[in-house]
Amino acid sequence: MPAFSKILSLTAGRQPMRQYSAAAQSQLRELLGKQLSGIKEAGTFKAERIITSSQSTQITVQGSDQKILNFCANNYLGLANNPEIVQYSQQLLGKYGAGLSSVRFICGTQDIHKQLEQKISQFHGREDTILYASCFDANAGIFEAILTPEDAVFSDELNHASIIDGIRLCRAKKQRYKHRDLADLEQQLRSTDARLKLIATDGVFSMDGNIAPLARIVELAKKYDALVFVDECHATGFFGATGRGTEEYDNVMGEVDIINSTLGKALGGASGGYTTGPTELISFLRQKSRPYLFSNTLPPAVVAVGLKVMDMLLSSSELSQRVQSNTQRFRQAMTKAGFTIAGENHPICPVMLGDARLASSFADEMLTRGIYVIGFSYPVVPQGKARIRVQISAAHTESEIDQAIQAFIEVGRSLKVIK
Ligand code: PLP
Repeated sequence: MPAFSKILSLTAGRQPMRQYSAAAQSQLRELLGKQLSGIKEAGTFKAERIITSSQSTQITVQGSDQKILNFCANNYLGLANNPEIVQYSQQLLGKYGAGLSSVRFICGTQDIHKQLEQKISQFHGREDTILYASCFDANAGIFEAILTPEDAVFSDELNHASIIDGIRLCRAKKQRYKHRDLADLEQQLRSTDARLKLIATDGVFSMDGNIAPLARIVELAKKYDALVFVDECHATGFFGATGRGTEEYDNVMGEVDIINSTLGKALGGASGGYTTGPTELISFLRQKSRPYLFSNTLPPAVVAVGLKVMDMLLSSSELSQRVQSNTQRFRQAMTKAGFTIAGENHPICPVMLGDARLASSFADEMLTRGIYVIGFSYPVVPQGKARIRVQISAAHTESEIDQAIQAFIEVGRSLKVIK
């Protein structure tokens, strides 16, 4: 009997193999269902609005053909749908294919990956760079790779979740210092006998739009022989006079030891992350960093976005200047109108409202006026500190910013937030 007919005769009449335990799955559904109901009751369930256009300052969302003005993307330079970038990405997609089906060290490194790493190093003025699928991965992969139980890491208590998770994975002594509190940091640095000491901070804290006191952190690092790690996701490409980030803003260019950042926000908004710093560090991460070693390489169309953006930023800082002047326009007019805007000189402009329900109805009212903003409340921000987080882009026109300000004033008056 031919082999295939033999298999058919052997399996005839059998029930398909069970893929799962029905009891275990119904237990899972029940457990998670209850927790989901709890999240909904607490008013913290995150629904996702479905965008039907490209990411831009003007978008359409499912259920409406009307364009709305978008003030809640991390599209700081307005490059997410830039035609030149999209065209270059299509070109490299055609030449290099959809993807590499491989991690970097097996057969996942193309010339364009090396070119992008070289351009990022050039942009930051660093020796070398390693690409990851995301900055979350870059943060997950660094601490565990380089720190041992003999070492200590000092982390700002409000650092991004990916830094917190990355630190959790490492075996170094873990110390948290109070948010931007240099006295607390110094006291902890003074009393450690660790071999390597690494201070880890966000450059810009994304919920408040406030800035790490980097110059003073660098000073402390020198005093106590520590290294400085900065996550520049909300700074690279647009913050500081030429967009070099927090170290440029705080006049300590080149003095930070390790920078992690993302290609998924200002730098074209596609995806990808990186670590840039000393040659030995980058070479070591290529050998030891688990999200790099055990995950697929960045696809060519995404690498192309990074390459084109880097070319633009290396030749001009016009876009970062534009986002800075748009930010000033928004912050000044809103403050004059009587709103409290948290943070400093940064395109993240949290309009402080306090009450969670007020923040949510304020955002709804703004949408009826064609302005898309999001209310943030506990547990994303502390209790009683609910806010609307406005994010300004270089691509917003002055008239779009003025429309948003006008809508804020109208809604603010009707909800008695301002007079
Ligand atoms: N670090 C900070 C401060 C962030 O805001 C984010 C994104 O939300 C990340 C890291 C993660 O970046 P990515 O989206 O590239 O994983």
